[in-house]
Amino acid sequence: MNDRIILPVWKKLSLHFLLIFITGYGIAIMSSRTFGQPITSDKQSVIAVQRCGMMGTNVIIKVQTEESELEKAHAAIEKAITRMQNLIEIVNARDPNSEVSYLNQNAGNVPVHIHAELMQILQTSRDVSVASEGAFDITFYAVGQLWKLRPVLPEIPTDEAIASALLCVGYQKMILNPDAMTAFLNKEGMRIELGAIAKGAVVDEAAQSLRDDGFTNYLINAGGDLYVTCPTGSPGWNVGLTNPVDPRGPVLVTIEMHRGSIVTSGNYEKMVEINGKRYHHIIDPRTGRPADRCISVTVIADNAMLADAYATAFFVMGPEKGMKLCESLTGIEAFFIDKELKTSCSSGFPAKELLNVEIKNKDQ
Ligand code: ADP
Ligand code: MG
Repeated sequence: MNDRIILPVWKKLSLHFLLIFITGYGIAIMSSRTFGQPITSDKQSVIAVQRCGMMGTNVIIKVQTEESELEKAHAAIEKAITRMQNLIEIVNARDPNSEVSYLNQNAGNVPVHIHAELMQILQTSRDVSVASEGAFDITFYAVGQLWKLRPVLPEIPTDEAIASALLCVGYQKMILNPDAMTAFLNKEGMRIELGAIAKGAVVDEAAQSLRDDGFTNYLINAGGDLYVTCPTGSPGWNVGLTNPVDPRGPVLVTIEMHRGSIVTSGNYEKMVEINGKRYHHIIDPRTGRPADRCISVTVIADNAMLADAYATAFFVMGPEKGMKLCESLTGIEAFFIDKELKTSCSSGFPAKELLNVEIKNKDQ
C-alpha cells in the first residue's frame, strides 16, 4: 500500500525540471518533482501517464488500468485534457476573448451570458467568500491587478490607488442569475480573476471526464492541485507533502489518499523582493495588500475546486480564524504553517504526525 507511488505534492518544485514562466504577476520559478513513480503495481495493471503544460503549470494525469485497456486509457486522458483546455478558454482572465474577460469588460454595464461551468465556479466562489467573510474574493482583482509583482521593475501601488480600487472590490456586487444563466459585475471598474479556484475546477473537469469514460483509478495533478480516486478496497495513492521552506528536501509526510483532492496555497516560492521587503501574490481583499499570516496552507476536500478555494481563503484568514472556519465545515481539512513556521492541523487531517514536525528555514 505504502509503496505504490511516491508523490511529492508541493506544487512548484522539481529536481527534474525547472520551468520559468511568465504570469500576470511577473516571473515565477516553478518546478515539480517527479509526480510519482510506480514502485510496485498489481500483476496485470499498468499506468497510462501523460504530461502537458497548462495554465502556466505542469499537468500530469495517471490512469491505472488493465493492460488490455491501455490504449483506451490514453484516449481518455487526451479527452480529459481537451475538456480541461476548453474550460481554461472560458475562465482565463488574461485572454481578452474569454467569457471572464467579457464579464470584466461589461462591468457596470450589462449582465453577460455564461456557460454552466463558469456559473458553478462563480457560485462556489461566492459561497466561499460568504463563509470566509470576504477573505476569499474573486473581485479582489480590481486591486490585485495594481500589484505588478514581477522580478524586473516590480511596482507597488500607492495607498491612494489601493483605497480607490478597493471601492470596486466586493463579492456582494457580483450578481448571478442561474435561471437566465447570466452574471453581472454591477460597478464600473470591477474585475474578477479566478487564479485561486480555476485550477481546481479544471482538475475536477478532468476527473469527471475520466469518470465518464468508465475509469475508476486515477490521479490528476495540475501544479500541485491534485485529485485522486481508486476503487473501494484497493490501495490508495501516496501523496507526499513537500516542505515549503525546503522543497528539495525530504517530504514532510506521506499521506495515503483513496478519493479526494489535496491542494496547497503558499507564498514561499513566489516572493518578489522590493526595497528589502518581500511581497507575494495572495491578496487580502479587505486591505488590498498581500496576506501575511501564513506561508502555506494545505487543504483536503472532496473536490479540487473546493480544496483550491479554501486553501486560498484559509491562507488569507490565518491559522486562528481559518482553523475555526475549517472545523465548522464538513469534508474540509487543513494543515497550516504560519509566518512563524508554527504548524497546526484540523481535527480530521489524516497526518497528525505533522504536528511534531519542526519546520525550519534552510539557513537556520
Ligand atoms: P497558487 O496560484 O499558488 O495555486 P492560490 O490557489 O492560492 O495559489 O491562488 C493564488 C491566486 O489567486 C493569485 O495568483 C490570484 O490570482 C488569486 N487571488 C489572490 N488573492 C485572492 C483572494 N483573496 N481571493 C481570491 N483570489 C485571490
Ligand atoms: Mg487556491
